[in-house]
Amino acid sequence: MKELPKAFVDRMRNFLGEDEYACFQNAIDGDPCVSVRVNPYKIPQGWAVQDNLRHVLWCDDGYYFDERPIFTLDPLLHGGAYYVQEASSMFLYYILGKLVSPHEPVRVLDLCAAPGGKSTLVASELPHGSVLVANEVIKSRASILKENIIKWGTGNVVVTNSDPSCFTGMEGAFDVILVDAPCSGEGMFRKDDRAIEEWSETNLRICEERQQRILRDIWPALKPGGYLIYSTCTFNPGENGEMLNFMQHEFGAHPVEIRHRFSQIVSSDVKYGYHFMPHKVMGEGFFIGVVRKDEHDTCSDKWLKERKDRRNTPKSVKLPKQVASLIRNVDAYAVYENEEGFGIIPKEQERFIAAVEQRVRVIYKGCEVAQMIGEKVKLLHPLALFAGLDKEAVTVYEADRKEALRFLKREDIDVAAPNGAWVLISYAGVGLGWGKKIGNRLNNNYPKGWMIRMDIR
Ligand code: SAM
Repeated sequence: MKELPKAFVDRMRNFLGEDEYACFQNAIDGDPCVSVRVNPYKIPQGWAVQDNLRHVLWCDDGYYFDERPIFTLDPLLHGGAYYVQEASSMFLYYILGKLVSPHEPVRVLDLCAAPGGKSTLVASELPHGSVLVANEVIKSRASILKENIIKWGTGNVVVTNSDPSCFTGMEGAFDVILVDAPCSGEGMFRKDDRAIEEWSETNLRICEERQQRILRDIWPALKPGGYLIYSTCTFNPGENGEMLNFMQHEFGAHPVEIRHRFSQIVSSDVKYGYHFMPHKVMGEGFFIGVVRKDEHDTCSDKWLKERKDRRNTPKSVKLPKQVASLIRNVDAYAVYENEEGFGIIPKEQERFIAAVEQRVRVIYKGCEVAQMIGEKVKLLHPLALFAGLDKEAVTVYEADRKEALRFLKREDIDVAAPNGAWVLISYAGVGLGWGKKIGNRLNNNYPKGWMIRMDIR
């Protein structure tokens, strides 16, 4: 039996009652569930059927595995065809379905986004022409977020690395803000012994104060009438229901009921919070609630028009012809050029993204596609992973699993192609990266920092 902190046990016993606490402790002592969420733009047809995978009830894209496979050895993971994600947190999918109309573009901020579980979920659910700003304050974690966003390949995400306070001046910028707050992590006790070791009452108070600070900083950036989705992976009421109360009292936020049919989800005593308890659901501990900003709150969009430097006036850039032909529906994108080369972002959001760049540190946007070296085109790695790449316009090599893993380890693979050709290495129809044929050899252009380091025999 896992040894849990006494004050935590006392609180949970009090909350659940003796009998139910026994079920809870039993669940914590058991094995965590294994689940993934598939990328609807990439997952090969029939993937779930062939393995007879069970669905996550509240997420059409979520599936359970009976056992944990060695995910690193599945090329589809590296191609962004799915993301390994804890099932309870996929309830966000259900919530977005209720809040966001599929026809109107929206601007969404995921404030605490690394490593990218919820950002990848949001990115594939947004209506055409929308943008997601995925922010992570810790630099090293922001680069993992960037990698996962590139692999997911939706092209509608701006990755930023800023403190929440940098967003304060962006009044009314976002229709939806997600705060998946740094928390005391009690919901991870089954999965992660470190969460147990690091638990203390002092840490609960630190988390609560930090969460209030984050919410104060970010509230002005929510549009009047917009939604703030707040979540944690803890059971501590001070970080959950009380934080929903805090937003109601402090900002005049309105609680939003998410009607659902899942009897396993426990309603919080505070309006309207939803608890996921490991003895009731197939998933880890999780809490989520939504509030709405009053329609009549005032906000000024002056920041959108400010021009601190030239970046706020997007330059009209065109993609070189031979690159434009590689992208499906290319007219839906605006083009930018930076030190990496040419990239694309959703056209509707061009000005907005430029204004965001004035305020926060953007480390990636849309999809970087190609660099011109004189007259020659160098295709960039994100294009290989981009769901909008026209595969009919490039040379594709369909690798078997062994070859795909060799490619992902940056080893040589043998591919017949004309000298100088760029070859998309694909596995089960999912792009993994580029090789370039030089003479008899295929240069492996898979990024060094992303390669599989595991010994595979
Ligand atoms: N949303 C992520 C996902 O689904 O993959 C998980 C986010 S995790 C619960 C919370 C994140 O908040 C961490 O990445 C952490 O680095 C970040 N964080 C820590 N301190 C923060 C602060 N003061 N302000 C904003 N974010 C912070």
